Amino acid sequence: MSASERHEFQAEVKQLLDLMVHSLYSDKDVFLRELISNASDALDKLRFERLTGAATAEANDTADLEIVLSADAAARTLSIADNGIGMTRDEVIKNIGTIAKSGTREFLAAAKAAPGKTVSPDLIGQFGVGFYAAFMVADRIELVTRKAHQAGATRWISTGDGAYTLEEAERDRPGTTITLHLKPADEEHGLKDYTSDRVVDAIVKHYSDFVAYPIKRGETTLNSMKAIWDRPKAEVTEDEYKEFYKHLSHDWNDPLRTIPVKIEGTLEAYALLYVPAKAPFDLFSPEMKRGVQLYVKRVFVMDECKELMPSYLRFVKGVVDAHDLSLNVSREILQKDRQIAVIRKQLVKKVLGTLDELKRDAREDYLGFWAGFGPALKEGLVAPEGAPDQDKLLDLVVAATTHAAGSPTTLAEYVGRMKDGQDTIYVLTGTSQEAVARSPLLEGFTAKGYEVLLFADPIDEIWLEREPSFQGKPLKSIGRGDVQPGTEDERKAAAAAVEDQRRELGDLLICLRAAIQDEVKEVRLSSRLTSSSACLVADEHDLTPRMQKLLEQLGQAPPPVRPVLELNPTHPVMAKLKAVFAADSTDPRLAASAKLLLGQAYLADTGQLPNPAAFGQALDEIMLRAM
Ligand code: ADP
Ligand code: MG
Repeated sequence: MSASERHEFQAEVKQLLDLMVHSLYSDKDVFLRELISNASDALDKLRFERLTGAATAEANDTADLEIVLSADAAARTLSIADNGIGMTRDEVIKNIGTIAKSGTREFLAAAKAAPGKTVSPDLIGQFGVGFYAAFMVADRIELVTRKAHQAGATRWISTGDGAYTLEEAERDRPGTTITLHLKPADEEHGLKDYTSDRVVDAIVKHYSDFVAYPIKRGETTLNSMKAIWDRPKAEVTEDEYKEFYKHLSHDWNDPLRTIPVKIEGTLEAYALLYVPAKAPFDLFSPEMKRGVQLYVKRVFVMDECKELMPSYLRFVKGVVDAHDLSLNVSREILQKDRQIAVIRKQLVKKVLGTLDELKRDAREDYLGFWAGFGPALKEGLVAPEGAPDQDKLLDLVVAATTHAAGSPTTLAEYVGRMKDGQDTIYVLTGTSQEAVARSPLLEGFTAKGYEVLLFADPIDEIWLEREPSFQGKPLKSIGRGDVQPGTEDERKAAAAAVEDQRRELGDLLICLRAAIQDEVKEVRLSSRLTSSSACLVADEHDLTPRMQKLLEQLGQAPPPVRPVLELNPTHPVMAKLKAVFAADSTDPRLAASAKLLLGQAYLADTGQLPNPAAFGQALDEIMLRAM
């Protein structure tokens, strides 16, 4: 390598650095937490390697793993050194020069759109900027790192503008030293004097007390190193729990709920779980970082331990310390391990129980939670791993309702309001809350005083498709088959009325159907409409139009299904059509009307026309004849 090489940062990093350099984020102290957390991660990696890996000379080195802070008030520098795993030159480029985090783009877009381009702490917090946070307090950062088992070291320097330089360096032991050339202290803008022992000690105590390695300043160890998860609940303050969450999750916001768990008996395990307050940007990205770390007797074993938490709870963060596992445990072993299965079951129970409490005791918080995480939780109603907890999951569902616009309800509350003789929970799905609330399908139900739950997340199409039951009552979509409102008797009466009307309108229906033969499965009369003239329903076992769209969006080619067009026999348009038909069964207005009714019904359902040109022609036809 030449003496000093200049590299450009990846575009996203440049933008992120720019945000940090000009950040108005008030709590700038967190930069130290981020750097200590990185040092602690690097020590974890080395420690784990020593415990399980090849026994090289370095691996047997018994030097105490530690983090050392040193400040120089005259030079205005603060350095953070660890003797952890270190980085190779390529790793420095990859880890510090680029951001792999999914959701970066969304984050930056949201940051740019923020008023006055001042990024709210909230937004930064949701994303977690890690290493780059140091540019809030330093105008020049130097990093020297040497990878374990390698000879040479690398020096990285940046002033937080668009580029950094790399050069060869020396470091007598593996590890990483980060030297911050601090901006002048400016208490008014949250910039303290980070060369002051008093300031640094207080920050470490506040944010990093539980870090498992000594954080030293000279001879003094600043942190207690107590593993927060196996301390009795009564001994840990709310603040300590919060700081541990931030250390662990890279979220700068407080968690919504903290869940300490102690499992005793045939096996012993401790866990400390957190429900975040805000959904991360990448909740639905396959690259999202899963939240639970596995420890064995306080030794870090693995990040993102999928085996401990089902995918629909992937947003739960925390630590699980299983005392009886082997440190050498691999993912393959974990998948089959009975202990892990037992622990997981307990953890899921705890989390779902906490959410249930939240729902009961803090409705507003719960609704906020549900708005962000509900779509993920509902995956549990579809995925096999959620099967054992179906009832609990259904109990957690919150949905908009025709009962009270703007105030979502639970299934239990719905059941409590069911009319005498009502045996079904009526639901309707749609592409958006607005669309579904306007659907003509609701008319017959609301007119008769039946409440309908309104769902608009894509996942709703899938789990509701299965018609689950809640407290013995099936959830049925009113957009499917022949679901009619009312008691058995009312439905029979309605069916009889429709039967009478069909005798009268049967030939007209056949005529209308002939015009849209290829587009619908059937044209029939409906008792579910009161003011609209037409609506679409799916046949009993067919995919709904929205389900079809969803599958198409997912890149699948669903089998073409034709919907059923239902017409309102009491609508004035039907009377007119009947008269036109009686006068001349070949009147071109009949075919044009059929196309318009179908188009209208599509617009009410999906907001889109499958064949806009045909709709336009039919509209012209009718207009010409009307004028
Ligand atoms: P995160 O910690 O969330 O991955 P950061 O921005 O804090 O994001 O750090 C980026 C990456 O840089 C880390 O994932 C790690 O690979 C590397 N890194 C940072 N600090 C150190 C360190 N002290 N020792 C080794 N690697 C480090
Ligand atoms: Mg980090």
